[in-house]
Amino acid sequence: MVDCDLVCLPTRFREPAPRGPYLWDWANEGGLRGLGYAPTSMAGHHFITRAALQVLPETVAWLRGEARLLTWCYCGFPDMNWAQYGTFGTEIKGARMPDSRREWEISRYCRYNQLLGEGHFIGHHPKQAIAGVEGRYQDACRAAEAGEGRDAIRFLGAATHYLEDCGSPPHAAEIGGPRHMPAESVRDPSGIAIPGYRPATSIDFPRTVGHLEAFAIERCQHILRLLEEERIAEILPYQIACANECAKAVADMVNQFFLAYRDRIDFAPQPAPVGVELLHNGDFAVAGDAPTCPDGWVMYWEDRADAQVSIERVSTPDGAEIVARDVRERVACLPTWPRVVRGVPGQAFVVAGEVCCSGGEAGLEAICMDDATCPVAEARKPASGTGEWEMLELTVTLPAKGEILRPGVYARGTSMARFRNLSVQVRA
Ligand SMILES: [Zn+2]
Repeated sequence: MVDCDLVCLPTRFREPAPRGPYLWDWANEGGLRGLGYAPTSMAGHHFITRAALQVLPETVAWLRGEARLLTWCYCGFPDMNWAQYGTFGTEIKGARMPDSRREWEISRYCRYNQLLGEGHFIGHHPKQAIAGVEGRYQDACRAAEAGEGRDAIRFLGAATHYLEDCGSPPHAAEIGGPRHMPAESVRDPSGIAIPGYRPATSIDFPRTVGHLEAFAIERCQHILRLLEEERIAEILPYQIACANECAKAVADMVNQFFLAYRDRIDFAPQPAPVGVELLHNGDFAVAGDAPTCPDGWVMYWEDRADAQVSIERVSTPDGAEIVARDVRERVACLPTWPRVVRGVPGQAFVVAGEVCCSGGEAGLEAICMDDATCPVAEARKPASGTGEWEMLELTVTLPAKGEILRPGVYARGTSMARFRNLSVQVRA
């Protein structure tokens, strides 16, 4: 299940992808399909998590789509928690970074919001990362006990990241500067696998972190020597040994979590409740961690290299609306992944909202996905473009395999479009 996500192993890890959906192009090359996958973390994390889950088939069956999201997204959270996501940031020249941080509410799952100065940053080397492992694992348990299974797996993803960082050679040995990336970047992930490993039923975090740290520090000495001698091709076995040691630790931690909560959490789809509003902040009245983005929503730009286009929340005398300007390729305002609508195949929904535009295309959209965010169908309802406010309705039925409905507003090829008062309910 986790395996079939990746069509082929990537042959390169760090290529510019100014217009691709991901910061790092390997995910495109590898053929990842989930719209919610955000493997912009250091790539090794995703392959280590994948290796751990490969020896936990019962856990993967229990987690359903969450297993793939843990692999291709959640275990990268602490590397994606930067305020410059969604802006023309520093990672890629001439393009906006995708707003992965808001897409997944990553600051909430990492308990650190750089933009608001809330919480505190936890370093990614063992001396500090242990606090991230223990703290986020406890958060996962608390969420599980409160019946918030998906929240629990997202916190577990953050814990997984910190645990993996503890066994990374340059993290454990605290090597910064120009040698950090070459020491860490695994050019060929095909050796990251622990077939036959039998995960422990419990994990002692300080002991495990201490072991991973010592193991990685020793290998890092060899890696640094080989880098110095420019014998780059020979560092891979040392990196793979560390990655596989990390994979065993992750398997132990995930197994402990599974054994504690498998009887209490069910990831099977549930029908959406009838007669209630299913959108959070559908009138955009509440601002998020910036006034230009509504709480629980995120902006999407198809062309992240377009510096002219804007889409943002604007306060009005009656509340708030979304305004898109100078739009060429599609832009959209969408609920964050933790706030999408969930239902069962065959369930019908009505997406409603007010749209105002003249010229071009703007309206409502709804994308149906499986439980790992892989798209199965989509629908759009454009406004007629009279320049007046229009009330639009879009009826969507979740098809076979459809468990997620992501409604939103979109525009393309228009000088201006406005949106307000969005609502989603189960069709009566
Ligand atoms: Zn990290």
